[in-house]
Amino acid sequence: MIFNYEFETLPREALEALQLKRLQQVVAKVYHTVDFYRKAFDDAKVKPEDIKILDDLKRLPFTTKQDLRDNYPFGLFTVPMSNVVRLHVSSGTTGKPTVVGYTKRDIETWAELMARCFAAAGLTRNDIIHNAYGYGLFTGGLGAHYGAEKLGASVIPMSGGNTKKQILILQDFEPTAICCTPSYALFLAEAGHEMGIDMRSLKLRVGILGAEPWSERMRLEIEDKLNITALNIYGLSEVIGPGVSMECAEGRSGMHIFEDNFIVEIIDPTTGEILPYGEKGELVFTTITKEAFPLIRYRTKDISCIRPEPCRCGRTFVRMERVTGRSDDMLIIRGVNVYPSQIESVLLEIEGLEPHYQLIVDREGQLDTLEVQVEVSENVFSDEVRVLQGLERRLAKDIKDLLGVTAKVKLVEPKTLQRFEGKAQRVTDKRKI
Ligand code: ADP
Ligand code: ZN
Repeated sequence: MIFNYEFETLPREALEALQLKRLQQVVAKVYHTVDFYRKAFDDAKVKPEDIKILDDLKRLPFTTKQDLRDNYPFGLFTVPMSNVVRLHVSSGTTGKPTVVGYTKRDIETWAELMARCFAAAGLTRNDIIHNAYGYGLFTGGLGAHYGAEKLGASVIPMSGGNTKKQILILQDFEPTAICCTPSYALFLAEAGHEMGIDMRSLKLRVGILGAEPWSERMRLEIEDKLNITALNIYGLSEVIGPGVSMECAEGRSGMHIFEDNFIVEIIDPTTGEILPYGEKGELVFTTITKEAFPLIRYRTKDISCIRPEPCRCGRTFVRMERVTGRSDDMLIIRGVNVYPSQIESVLLEIEGLEPHYQLIVDREGQLDTLEVQVEVSENVFSDEVRVLQGLERRLAKDIKDLLGVTAKVKLVEPKTLQRFEGKAQRVTDKRKI
């Protein structure tokens, strides 16, 4: 289903004309209102009038998380505080949080984007949405909430945590959709199962899951345990929050970027060079409709790949592939680059291993070491030691063969590793301690 037919199916040419017009406006706005941008553009010897075609975007300098931190808290806002109606911060997964502000119109834009996401998941005003993204400074909860209301669905403002109550409400209120992180969806499935509830027979039919990297195997696992269609949603506070891109139920392969609001580029994370569609690199976004906190060429550090092929849903927006991880999360183990989500994909191919794992990186002398701790399923755990050792060897071999990394595998008892209510934390890097 398409929420905003007019914009979501714009022919490419019209879309690009709209992008250019909006880009020119936002560039002029930031140049004339924000010291940081004026200086950065002057240093790059580019003036707003120089943006004549879309391709001129590349003449503008990048904006980084460090720039946001240097201008903490409100230095990049383009409107006076009296026009700001909401503040949020990013979760701070990788350091000091950054602050983002919204005008009334920004909140409306964001609600529309989230409503588009829900519609892309096949939801309508007849659905009940259980929103287990955290409410508060994190953008997930309120972002999804306003979108659900905009769609006209009934929203349960559950927020994160309080798992037993969540399960009770899932049973009694009979929501048809759930919003949360993929790791929490699994946690709920498991907790419900332990309470003796058949989590497959709930009314839930779709999950709008995101805020952290997850693998295709993890999707199958969640779909199976909750008997739902699990769809991927992507966003980041700096750009607007959740609702930057969303997978459609029809295509179920890659997330459509709402290009009437954001211009996307892919760059080589080391050289900054722009890469063609189809190549893997760092996502860079320019917001072209936001008022309070527009961002020009923001480097997300998220690694993905853009697919321009048409989609059967009819949207004309390009799609981005699953985010493998952030360039920050990339582990370099003896010179080999590996993302936690790649290890997740490998381990979930093996029968008897559960999607609960931890990666411990350390150093012995000059050499990096990687230990992968994974929970085994109940039935495997009661097997003979020989079987467990066989599984350990198999996983170590698969990781070596497929990712090129030597890992020590340690299988652990079911339900012994930490569970997460929000974003999962998979890595302990003792080299940094
Ligand atoms: P923080 O950057 O502090 O975690 P945010 O809450 O804004 O703050 O999180 C945004 C980040 O979450 C993104 O930059 C990305 O790394 C991750 N993320 C969000 N959605 C997804 C998704 N569907 N798949 C993978 N990663 C995601
Ligand atoms: Zn589609």
